[in-house]
Amino acid sequence: MSRLVRACYQDPADLVWLHAAAALGWTVQRSADVYASWDGRRTLTLASAEYLDADDCLAQMIFHEICHLLVSGEAALSQVDWGLDNTSARDLVFEHATNRLQAALAQAYGLRHFMAVTTVWRSYYDALPHDPLAMGDDPAIAAAREGWQRAAQPPYRAILDAALGATAALAALLRPHAPPDSLWSFAQERHPVGTNAHADTTLRCSSCAWAIVQRHDKLECRLTRPGCRPASYSLAEAGSDTPPAARLDATQSACEYHEAPLSVQDCFQCGACCHRGFDVVELAAGERFAKQHPELVERRSSERYVVPRPNGHCVALQGDGSAAASYLCRHYADRPRSCRDFELGGDACLLARQRCGLPSRA
Ligand code: SF4
Ligand code: SF4
Repeated sequence: MSRLVRACYQDPADLVWLHAAAALGWTVQRSADVYASWDGRRTLTLASAEYLDADDCLAQMIFHEICHLLVSGEAALSQVDWGLDNTSARDLVFEHATNRLQAALAQAYGLRHFMAVTTVWRSYYDALPHDPLAMGDDPAIAAAREGWQRAAQPPYRAILDAALGATAALAALLRPHAPPDSLWSFAQERHPVGTNAHADTTLRCSSCAWAIVQRHDKLECRLTRPGCRPASYSLAEAGSDTPPAARLDATQSACEYHEAPLSVQDCFQCGACCHRGFDVVELAAGERFAKQHPELVERRSSERYVVPRPNGHCVALQGDGSAAASYLCRHYADRPRSCRDFELGGDACLLARQRCGLPSRA
């Protein structure tokens, strides 16, 4: 006797992203004839499951196309394939920007590897820095940052936050049950401070430069102080000034921003406080530096004197941070008071390093 089948099984992540697409008013259909195609009339056609690589999924493909829309802007909704020419390098910058936005949004939910692009652009995606939207020379960064601005606006913010949050929640449930080569194993664990857990699970917050020991052996993570928070592309946090929980147990495993305590040797390769970490050094007119080196001092107003940083480089700084040419202040003995008072390993030091992309992270 045949059985009456009343339901069908569906991949849970695919369901989440089909729901997100529907919330945007999109129809998603599958086809054996294309990999991904937008018809300019709100129908997205994606390759049938049998034509996808083993590490690809409908969820990622829908997410990728939403990132295309965010990068290209709403005018692209009425254009076939977002108005992009996929047969030449003309629109490469938009493809790269889409990759950057996808990486930034996914990382904020621990999904950078899980929701990674799977086409020929994967090598570009994998080579992106820890912060894919940080300022740099790639012309795609500006378009990706515009995409992030759109993502933080209605209706995208709520729809994407719900979909990324649900996918991360699914990953948290499934990771313990997934074999190592399952894509679910590539979703990152979250950390109590709202970042991703460090891949090295033996590292502890107690060995981190950002940790301050408080009473009862509790730690405060300075990363959670408003001025010190790293760039976050979490849509749940967009517009929020409330830092996540800051008190940690000494045994707490580390997050992705773990940094070994700093020593003066680090300064020779770092130099962050003397270049792009801050705009200028302020000093008083009567300071020894101003008297000894007036040619290096700029008067910005009747009361305000600074040591300027053309091209983000203090005029008194020498070296390039290499082993052969360590960063050094040419007038270290006479350095301004604010440089003398600057605390190695203090909030401002760690913040300056973060602004300069230090330490470099994969
Ligand atoms: S490992 Fe992360 S959470 Fe822990 S103290 Fe360092 S920066 Fe903060
Ligand atoms: S930012 Fe900190 S580690 Fe870097 S040079 Fe300045 S004091 Fe040294």
